[in-house]
Amino acid sequence: MTTPSTDLIFAPVGIAHLTNRNSDLLRAAAAGRSALRVTTAAQLNGVPHFGTTVTILTVFAFAAHAADDLGLPATVVFDALENAPAEHLERGGEQYTRTVGDLIDAGRLNEATRTDGFRRLLDWARDRSGVPYEVRPYAVYQNLRPVRECLHHIAQQLDAFAPICAPTDGVVKVRPRCPACRLMEKAGKHLRITTLPDAVQLDSICPDHGPYTEHVPVNGGGWYDANTPVRSIQKGYLLAAERELYDACSVSVDGADWGGAWHSQVLAPGLATLGVPPHDWPVSVFTPLVVDRTGGKLSKSLYVAKSAYADLPELFLNLDILLAEHGDHVLDTLWTEVSRWASDPHRLHRSYTVDYFAALLNEHLPARPAPRAA
Ligand SMILES: [Zn+2]
Repeated sequence: MTTPSTDLIFAPVGIAHLTNRNSDLLRAAAAGRSALRVTTAAQLNGVPHFGTTVTILTVFAFAAHAADDLGLPATVVFDALENAPAEHLERGGEQYTRTVGDLIDAGRLNEATRTDGFRRLLDWARDRSGVPYEVRPYAVYQNLRPVRECLHHIAQQLDAFAPICAPTDGVVKVRPRCPACRLMEKAGKHLRITTLPDAVQLDSICPDHGPYTEHVPVNGGGWYDANTPVRSIQKGYLLAAERELYDACSVSVDGADWGGAWHSQVLAPGLATLGVPPHDWPVSVFTPLVVDRTGGKLSKSLYVAKSAYADLPELFLNLDILLAEHGDHVLDTLWTEVSRWASDPHRLHRSYTVDYFAALLNEHLPARPAPRAA
């Protein structure tokens, strides 16, 4: 019997010629280390959607594969980004945001609805893979000593990092928030970054409460929002430091949209500018993208706006419902699939369309749930 998975033709890409199994990607970096630390991240935007679900399952499958092949215990570290924007406001022509964490603190968002879906998925993947996990909130992450050291280095070399982190407007976005109302200016027009001997000082202006200062010591305390390029470079720096801190091979596993141009234009120049030696760089592994029929990344915002995706398989439009009602069946089917990606280079280094998944799920799900009234 043929299945969507065995029907495929795999045109090997460059890296698949270099590796027999995907654990080869880690072999040199893991030599002499006592553990594997496999890190991934997601914004706490609510229930994990399909692409995030596939990525998280692949992270655990990859960690289990590498642990088996290399004979080292693995841990998954899940960076839960509660600094994702949850509220957008315009004041005086400027854009301001508040984060998921701010709205939870203010009692305007229920923390459980933001974390339960991820927790359930992480628990399922842990139980299936045998790989334990830790959740690291952004509030903890941004306060870690290596992350603060990296921030201090970036603040000292803003001219060098501006073209890397902000090629359009030159504003490196390390944002403080108003201590009174937690509004944060998105574009950073009022942002001033000052380097002190053992701290970074961030100055900005709240449209309602006026000027304010956030003191961000290297030793911890205070809070700032690092935008995506800054956070990405900090994460590379942190994972390099964690090789020694945990005597571990640090691995970062993320969706393939963090490879290619992002890795070559942002992460690699960022780590090189920081002077991190290449042998300390974390191993970056990229999980396949789930793409629509035109080859574009499946986007949650567009996915929700069904009219923009009229051509998607009908089953796929109900996938959030499928996951809610047939969670374990869906996850079992996906696990079998991503476990093959995890070990086989030909299956890892490629994208998969929604039609591919629709065929896979149609074949394996026992019965289709009745469509829910709109
Ligand atoms: Zn304010």
